[in-house]
Amino acid sequence: MRIDAHTHLGECDRTYYGQAKNWDMSGYFTAADLIALLDEVEVDAALCFPLGTRASDAGLRLVIEGVQKYPDRLRGFYWGNPHDPAAPGELEKCVREYGLSGLKLHPTSDSWMAGHPMADPLMHKAEELGVPVTIHSHQPGSQPALIGELATRFPKVTVIMAHMGMHHYRDAMYVASKEPNVVLETAVQPWAHRMARDVVDRIGLDRLVWGSDAPLHHPTVEKAKIEVSALTDAERDAVMGGNIARILNWT
Ligand SMILES: [Zn+2]
Repeated sequence: MRIDAHTHLGECDRTYYGQAKNWDMSGYFTAADLIALLDEVEVDAALCFPLGTRASDAGLRLVIEGVQKYPDRLRGFYWGNPHDPAAPGELEKCVREYGLSGLKLHPTSDSWMAGHPMADPLMHKAEELGVPVTIHSHQPGSQPALIGELATRFPKVTVIMAHMGMHHYRDAMYVASKEPNVVLETAVQPWAHRMARDVVDRIGLDRLVWGSDAPLHHPTVEKAKIEVSALTDAERDAVMGGNIARILNWT
């Protein structure tokens, strides 16, 4: 089973995100659009987050509707902004009542520092609910070392570093080598095809998951990186589906 561990639903903006062949980045990218895209690129399922520089209500609504309409193919995370005192309660409601599966954090978009204790109420709630956390891992505020601070404080929470630190991929690998609860995720990681072998050898096969960041990036391109990497077929199966399925208890 192929699972994309990083996709978004919500309002697109072509002037900001650009466009590609047969790729309309205007209007809303909905669960139905995502399902059509998954079919086109032969991916079975996806984990989706609200789209946008902020956790828009529209994006969250589309994620909740999506996981309820396509329970075999979609899982969704709540986007938590630590500046919002209501966020931990909303996370709990989204998990317990609406069937979401975890927490997405984006320190750069939401103007906070990944290691700062202001995110602790959200992290405590994720720990209490037993759900994983995906966190953006490059740009100011979202550096891998700061995510390491967060992961150290919450050793029972699975912390997924989206983009694997981008050009700070060695920093991300170092943090993952020190913190067993950190998982590296490949979306838009330029060197994913070269680093996948090293991550598996040095950190562990269960510590790497594949994602695309669709619709901001094309899953065909992101898939190709893992397909041309030096992983064996069995390792590729784990990275492109088995690992995230286990993290999400996806049966
Ligand atoms: Zn993303």
